[in-house]
Amino acid sequence: MDISQELHNGIANWPGDTPFKYQLDTTIDESGVNVGRVEASFHIGTHLDAPYHYDNDGLKIHELDINKLIDRAQIIECLDIDCITVSDIEGIEIEAPIVLFKTRYTKQLDAFTESFSILSEGLIDYLKQHNVGIIGVDTPSVDAYEDDALPVHHACNRANILIIENLELSKVRAGIYDFIGLPIKVIGDASPIRAVVKRV
Ligand SMILES: [Zn+2]
Repeated sequence: MDISQELHNGIANWPGDTPFKYQLDTTIDESGVNVGRVEASFHIGTHLDAPYHYDNDGLKIHELDINKLIDRAQIIECLDIDCITVSDIEGIEIEAPIVLFKTRYTKQLDAFTESFSILSEGLIDYLKQHNVGIIGVDTPSVDAYEDDALPVHHACNRANILIIENLELSKVRAGIYDFIGLPIKVIGDASPIRAVVKRV
């Protein structure tokens, strides 16, 4: 099942980032082929943050171990929580190295909403203790919109946990899945991914 957002002209971007724009440089009518070009922030749609996004010494996308992005994933539903903390998930056994948080975030793909669920720094430490290496959210960030210090991003960096943002989880339920979500091989701070899951 596809859990990626569709990239299209008009999809919401993080305020201040370059919007997604696809256009044809050449058309079939003009020269026999359609050749498109894309302009966008790498943080558009469903994407993987590289540590370089929040750490000048951090790894870039092309340096990441992509084997970590082909593994078991656990989807946890936290549908009515502003800041997800350890106490919210303590009753749930963590059974996979990838944990995806499904929140109540409205899936208005074409309108950026500043209010969305975030994760607590303590939760990152807890997930690290449970051998989680990747977390994913269906929101634009694991940190609050107005929090430029990015404490949760930095907590993930310290814990060696990678971050996936803007997943499309509205059609999947809590449970254990096989997951694949691979970035393009780019020397960069982030990359869109095509994320899919299959129920196990
Ligand atoms: Zn990002």
